[in-house]
Amino acid sequence: MTLPNGLTAEDARRAASRAYELDRRHVFHSWSAQARIDPMTITAAQGCYVWDGDGNRLLDFSSQLVNTNIGHQHPKVVAAVREQAAKLCTVAPQYVNDARSEAARLIAERTPGELNKIFFTNGGAEAVEHAVRMARLHTGRHKVLARYRSYHGGTETAINLTGDPRRWPNDHGNSGVVHFFGPFRYRSQFYASDDTEESARALAHLEQTIAFEGPGTIAAIVLESVPGTAGIMVPPPGYLAGVREICDKYGIVFIADEVMSGFGRTGKWFAIDHFEGVTPDLLTFAKGVNSGYVPLGGVAISPAIAASFDDRPYPGGLTYSGHPLATAAAVATLTAMRDEGIVENAADIGARVLGPGLHELAERHPSIGEVRGTGVFWALELVRDRTTREPLAPYGDTSPAMTEVVAACRAAGLLLFVNFNRLHVVPPCIINEAEAKEGVAILDQALTVADRYTV
Ligand code: PLP
Repeated sequence: MTLPNGLTAEDARRAASRAYELDRRHVFHSWSAQARIDPMTITAAQGCYVWDGDGNRLLDFSSQLVNTNIGHQHPKVVAAVREQAAKLCTVAPQYVNDARSEAARLIAERTPGELNKIFFTNGGAEAVEHAVRMARLHTGRHKVLARYRSYHGGTETAINLTGDPRRWPNDHGNSGVVHFFGPFRYRSQFYASDDTEESARALAHLEQTIAFEGPGTIAAIVLESVPGTAGIMVPPPGYLAGVREICDKYGIVFIADEVMSGFGRTGKWFAIDHFEGVTPDLLTFAKGVNSGYVPLGGVAISPAIAASFDDRPYPGGLTYSGHPLATAAAVATLTAMRDEGIVENAADIGARVLGPGLHELAERHPSIGEVRGTGVFWALELVRDRTTREPLAPYGDTSPAMTEVVAACRAAGLLLFVNFNRLHVVPPCIINEAEAKEGVAILDQALTVADRYTV
């Protein structure tokens, strides 16, 4: 047997074993207690599938870290990186480069409103760092508001904006970030009984937070248009429009973090496109912009904020801002996504296969408390008790039940994105009907494990 990358099964196994041994000796992993992990080796990938170190094929319902929107090894993106490498591997950011210019044009063409200037970074956290820096300099204010249920990245400002518990060991209480509660019907902070109430009360809470913090001290509100890692909660109608209004009222910059939700994930180019007429002042992106074939992120900037730096220098930059290999990958990715109808495919599979398929699972599995999402961006909220909504793992932690469900999926050939008590179904946007059904069928089997833990 030969893998898609041409390796024989035996060669792949040997390479995987050596890679694992070196990894455990020399590689220091993110977010982990180093001695307690047993990372999986991946030797090959193609489309929606990956191959592990033992030669098993797995359906990638995680898109790695929700970034391979175009799938693995898309031939046009691979060719573009190869061609760019042969042409010009690297240039410093102060020089003009055709790959960077064209990527900026294609991104600006897709972003909402007039977000027509693009500052490139190497990833999402840096994009958030720079968006906040721009907002602070533009407004002359320091404080930034963010949701508790959020993830914005691992660098200093980004991790302090983050609500999830990964912030706690990094939070010295002096970052200038204030957290608030956003709308989340299933676990409402606002005792709301419908979406209209949830939206109105969440907006009132936000405006109260601003009043008590001092409107003149707040530079920006940072929001994931649809929160990803924190649970894929599509905001109720009116919420983001209300945030826009509040920002306008108090002269606060609205930063939409589309690092995970952007570039097709929700079935539109950006998640904020689901909310007509809402345009942020800054939009951060990464991941799906080139599916992570080469690290890339950035900030799309409104004319007013860009103009703040027409006659005074923007005090920030990176050696690899707009790196040719990364931006050439973006040009190929965005072009292929348009030519092949990949965003439309994400919307169609979500509406016709994944949404109905997952809701149908909820009818049969008492461990599913809620199914929510859109496009290829879905979460299953697993609970011990549907009545009390007690989660199958506590906030910020895992549990034997979650570990067993995830292991059952993996044993049956399915990789998922997992957070606390949630399974996230986030396959590449290119996924076809048969592949989506294959994954749902594996979930169906694996959830019988979770059902055993329900009351
Ligand atoms: N913002 C959001 C919404 C994210 O989901 C992530 C990563 O998952 C980030 C920022 C950070 O991106 P990166 O890991 O590329 O720094």
